[in-house]
Amino acid sequence: MSDLPPCPKCNSAYAYEDPSGLLVCPECGNEWSPSADIATVSDADGSPDHELVVRDAVGNILQDGDTVVLVKDLKVKGSPTGLKAGTKVKKIRLVDGDHNIDCRVEGIGQMGLKSEFVKKA
Ligand SMILES: [Zn+2]
Repeated sequence: MSDLPPCPKCNSAYAYEDPSGLLVCPECGNEWSPSADIATVSDADGSPDHELVVRDAVGNILQDGDTVVLVKDLKVKGSPTGLKAGTKVKKIRLVDGDHNIDCRVEGIGQMGLKSEFVKKA
């Protein structure tokens, strides 16, 4: 006798392995792959990692269109004053990357910010 697992559907002990490697239950006609079964279970609690989640300096989740306030003075290329802590930035757009906030700052223009330097307003 083989040590094949029972049918996951009807629990029949008469499952057999067909030539393609699938297990087949002669009682309910179920076909399954023993290795694929295990993979499905371990995938189930893995969360998708492609979702873009951007958090501010204190851990709030930011969204497109949010208004944020700088928590740190930042140097800005081409601007003698740079950005001061407390500057409000409206209608941010979240992007993938090192500077994960795309925004338009008055007096400076389009620029990228790091979410760790802002706080949700
Ligand atoms: Zn079965």
